[in-house]
Amino acid sequence: MNYDVIVIGSGLGGLTAGAKLAREGLKVLVVEQHNRPGGCATTFKRGDFTLEVGLHEMDGPGSRDMKNRIFSELDVTGNVEFLPLPEFYRFIRGDLAVTVPHDPQLAAARLYELFPGEKEGIDRYFDLLLNPKKKVTGNPEPDISVGVFLDSIISNEDLKLILLGNLGYFHDDPYSLSLAYYSVAEGSYYTNGASFIKGGSQKLSDHLAGYIRKHGGDVLLNHLVTGVTVSNNSATGVTFRKRSDRTRETVTATAGEIVVNCSVPALADMLPQEQGALLKEEFSVLNTGASLLTVYFGFDRPLKELGHRYYSMFIYDRSVKSQADIARNNRDDFSRRSFTFVDYGQVDSCLAPAGKGVGAICCIDYLADWEKLGKNEYELRKEYVAQTFIERLEEVIPGVREIISYYEVGTPATVKRYTLNPGGAVYGFAQNPGRKTPDSFKAVENLHLASAWGRNGGGFSGAICGGYLSAFNLLRKRARR
Ligand SMILES: Cc1cc2nc3c(=O)[nH]c(=O)nc-3n(C[C@H](O)[C@H](O)[C@H](O)COP(=O)(O)OP(=O)(O)OC[C@H]3O[C@@H](n4cnc5c(N)ncnc54)[C@H](O)[C@@H]3O)c2cc1C
Repeated sequence: MNYDVIVIGSGLGGLTAGAKLAREGLKVLVVEQHNRPGGCATTFKRGDFTLEVGLHEMDGPGSRDMKNRIFSELDVTGNVEFLPLPEFYRFIRGDLAVTVPHDPQLAAARLYELFPGEKEGIDRYFDLLLNPKKKVTGNPEPDISVGVFLDSIISNEDLKLILLGNLGYFHDDPYSLSLAYYSVAEGSYYTNGASFIKGGSQKLSDHLAGYIRKHGGDVLLNHLVTGVTVSNNSATGVTFRKRSDRTRETVTATAGEIVVNCSVPALADMLPQEQGALLKEEFSVLNTGASLLTVYFGFDRPLKELGHRYYSMFIYDRSVKSQADIARNNRDDFSRRSFTFVDYGQVDSCLAPAGKGVGAICCIDYLADWEKLGKNEYELRKEYVAQTFIERLEEVIPGVREIISYYEVGTPATVKRYTLNPGGAVYGFAQNPGRKTPDSFKAVENLHLASAWGRNGGGFSGAICGGYLSAFNLLRKRARR
């Protein structure tokens, strides 16, 4: 088997890179260990319900959004429908409840009303988010954390928490989240609005996989890449095997270029010992980001019938009084841990049949807390988590408990099982201030990183744009040779 390019993994980064390269006439093979393409961007069926794995809100696509160009080139536009979301998010902590609109002028106006003494800080915050490049490139100071930045411009802790409502989209602690990264990522939600994919994120993943096949490529599901072959500091191919094959017999496919969508730590283990060790050394300064726990729900009735009106709510625990409490709270018991609830029925998501609904609770979580449990303890813990969150959701949406017809808990161990990401990480390396962002590897020249673990970071946009740029750089390199 000989290809121009082999892509290890079919997460959004790998699929976008593969689709772009196939479009440019290269013969592409994508090898994916799961039985469906998409990684985190997948859905699964339970009875009537389509449950969404990894999308609450995608920023854009908007007029100033690089994804517009990518989606148009790869025929996503017209084939995948993006549903605009009604609000950015609703923040709730005890009696403090504020809806933050997507429009930054409206958001700022609402916050001036609530915090009139903080107008200057609010303006500085939105000025940075709406002009992140100007600020970041014009700023001679080293990158700082979002927490330190907010402390320098705003005094009121409630206001800081409201602005940090959706922090879990990026990281678990404002004091170790890069301001340069946050201002671009959060700024895009305000500049480009946000959307959900009609029918679920699997639609986008399936489209991209189909696009690769349509352009002469192969997408091989249920196959695990076990090694990358290297000769003279250049990758020459990959070895892989059928997941279900007990003989564990591997086959080798060769290619001139390898696109890496699996995690960087996993890649280090796939390389020959010498290059693997160099790669580990290269990235030893980076931390792995947090994981997420999700409780998936199918409802007998749409939540709108209970009077619920919000697509996305962030419910902070009363014990979180300042941004310094966030990191501790993310490791607190589930009876106190802050969480988000998404009601997909607020838009025409098509995840549930008419007259029913689908939703999800999600919170920051850590694999280590689940890996240490035995099988029974693990199941009991999941049930505790589900019941605890149902009780807490009932406080916010009275009557919700009565209409739950299905629930299921996905832990960081579940994320790890389906993506093979270490720690069940969903956003790749933690976006710590001033972190060194990987893009390619010194030790092996023709490996190209296309995932949340790369320079653009995680989330749908990070993976999609990272995948596209990786393909773009690969094509440029080939043209120069
Ligand atoms: C619960 C949850 C909620 C989220 N919410 C949002 C949100 O609202 N907005 C947003 O923008 N982002 C969200 N994200 C994050 C976003 O989904 C991810 O950051 C992004 O999809 C990661 O894409 P990726 O290309 O890095 O690959 P991944 O999705 O990590 O996929 C990697 C792929 O590689 C495959 N693979 C790994 N190793 C091998 C191997 N050895 N052989 C073959 N295949 C292999 C895996 O099976 C997987 O398919 C969420 C994620 C989760 C889990």
